Amino acid sequence: MQSLKSEFPIFETARKEGKPLIFLDNASTTQKPHCVIDAISGFYTGYYANVGRGLYWPATAASSSYDQAREKVRSFIGASSKKEVIFTSGTTDAVNKVVNSFLLPQLKNGDEVLVSEMEHHSNFVPWQQACESKGAQLKVIPLDAELNLNLSQLASMLTSKVKILAITAISNTLGVKNDLKSIINLAHQHNIKVFVDAAQLPLSEKIDVQKIDCDFLAFSGHKVFGPTGIGVLYGKQALLENMSPLAYGGGMVQKVSIDETIMADLPSKHEAGTPNIAGAIGLAAAIDFINLVGVEEIGRYGAELRKYAVKRLSEIEGLTLLAKEAEGTAILSFTMEGIHPHDIAAFLAEKGIAVRAGHHCTHPLMHKLDIGGTVRVSFNIYNSTEEVDLLKNTLDEIKSFFL
Ligand code: PMP
Repeated sequence: MQSLKSEFPIFETARKEGKPLIFLDNASTTQKPHCVIDAISGFYTGYYANVGRGLYWPATAASSSYDQAREKVRSFIGASSKKEVIFTSGTTDAVNKVVNSFLLPQLKNGDEVLVSEMEHHSNFVPWQQACESKGAQLKVIPLDAELNLNLSQLASMLTSKVKILAITAISNTLGVKNDLKSIINLAHQHNIKVFVDAAQLPLSEKIDVQKIDCDFLAFSGHKVFGPTGIGVLYGKQALLENMSPLAYGGGMVQKVSIDETIMADLPSKHEAGTPNIAGAIGLAAAIDFINLVGVEEIGRYGAELRKYAVKRLSEIEGLTLLAKEAEGTAILSFTMEGIHPHDIAAFLAEKGIAVRAGHHCTHPLMHKLDIGGTVRVSFNIYNSTEEVDLLKNTLDEIKSFFL
């Protein structure tokens, strides 16, 4: 796996005061391999044109690449049809679109929406605001003492008032993975639709939307080696067909007259305007890269680094690991007694080690834990046990500097 680092040009070029970049902020975003950068620049330099309109060759080539990108995403998440794959600008955009087109038209005073206590603000605020606008209630499924989702509490909250359950696959702060299949199965027993925030899932395990039977699922390209500004909304075909368009404009219509507009079929119906063509092409290259390395291999490597980090950081007295026992993810949060997370992150940054400190867009979780923030490290295929050792040694230094 070590040799794969050379696939990421940033590690050859990026130096601060001669120090190499040690990038442990992969839950926030991932670095880009050569093949993704080349695919994007190849589009702009080789066959750039708009999609779905022109009959001249760069336009047909661009359209065909855009269509192939959708097919790659379909296969990547195990959807049964390309009609179920809608390109968005990211996870946040996808959540907002489902809120606006699926939830709001049916939400009434007294209805409920369920989210969990570990949600990222992107999978919390849009649902909360929708509830507020209609006099509905946002209910929050609590976590247990080990910071896992409390499934028996969840079961007791599933009533006929609930219009949708929105749940993250993996907590971006704790690295806790939820048992999606059981959660979705429970919700479906009560006829409740489930939206899965899969922003942290694609590099952890192979996604199979048919197997987990989710109704909606979303992820972002930039967290899976792809570019920013592109993401995916998966929805079951019948649901996407029944929803009003996520936006109106060109490219999503069959026929327009002064009196009425007949919408295009899926997926175009939900993609108004010129799409992020370069983003989709970059995402397709990222998916090729992931498939070449192997999702399972990537997931295993990240989870092993987390396990190793748990072992090494446990040696530091006064350092508390959160959700220490969590398995199968590459995200680990900790606090250090007497030292502010931002001081830790700033000190690490001086050594060229990139980590994230703060609330990680999970205020409700911080509130539950009664802390202001954590330091979060998150691993990927270009990280190594040597980097974890360096992190551990630098944290020792930080401790003697501040305390
Ligand atoms: N959900 C989770 C669990 C995330 O980790 C993130 C990104 N940190 C998001 C949603 C939002 O993703 P984006 O900013 O790409 O829309």
